[in-house]
Amino acid sequence: MRTQRQVVDYSLQKRAVLRELLAGRVGTYDVCDASPYLKNAARFHGEPTEERCPICRSENLTHVHYIYGDELKQSAGQARNLAELPVLAMTLREFQVFVVEVCLGCDWNHLVEQFLLGRDGLAEDGPEQGAAGVNAPGAGPAHGRRREAQR
Ligand SMILES: [Zn+2]
Repeated sequence: MRTQRQVVDYSLQKRAVLRELLAGRVGTYDVCDASPYLKNAARFHGEPTEERCPICRSENLTHVHYIYGDELKQSAGQARNLAELPVLAMTLREFQVFVVEVCLGCDWNHLVEQFLLGRDGLAEDGPEQGAAGVNAPGAGPAHGRRREAQR
């Protein structure tokens, strides 16, 4: 997404958990603990992936996108469909997205990444601001033409 910024990737932490599991230092019971809320969010708002679950290897993982931020008001902390995020990103200045992977087969779940979205991320794009200036009242070609005609 265009305004995506401050991305934090959690794949190292995920690999560490899987290593602990392989070594027998944690049990599948400890890591396959998706709550009913998370599983519902995965069913209704989840984004299917092609990635196999690292634990049961029988289901594909589902990504759930949670949104947080003051501007969201009562929507903060809700799961949203991936398709809704670009729309929100054009409406709001800034909000945080947390992506969680869930396996609906064995309840494995882990944070994938977090990032910021929102219009504040467009500030670095000069061209759009410039274009708005050209269309300002009184400026631009139309004004010039009118002066030509008066001469
Ligand atoms: Zn699984």
